[in-house]
Amino acid sequence: MTCEELQGDLVAYHFGEVPPAGRDAVEEHLVSCAACVKRFVALKREIELGESGPRPSATARARLKAAALAEVAKPLRPWRWWERPLAFGLASAAVMVALVFVRGL
Ligand SMILES: [Zn+2]
Repeated sequence: MTCEELQGDLVAYHFGEVPPAGRDAVEEHLVSCAACVKRFVALKREIELGESGPRPSATARARLKAAALAEVAKPLRPWRWWERPLAFGLASAAVMVALVFVRGL
């Protein structure tokens, strides 16, 4: 297998869609060709990270994840006595507004 032949198979190889015989050929070539390994790694990175601009750093992502987890893990506070009727009132007011709006059309 030549480097040119390998280029066409790299994407399929990445997604595991090369038949076993072809896979052996790809791996054999990758083992012996540093240039193609380099291309394969670059291709993998491109597929996995997407090409759309800069990504948040690992620290930023970890911080975001921690914040999201903290938010999810927060214990649910019981409703105060006045919150439930207020929420219900707001919901029915929204429905009324929607009805009036629909009639107006
Ligand atoms: Zn090669």
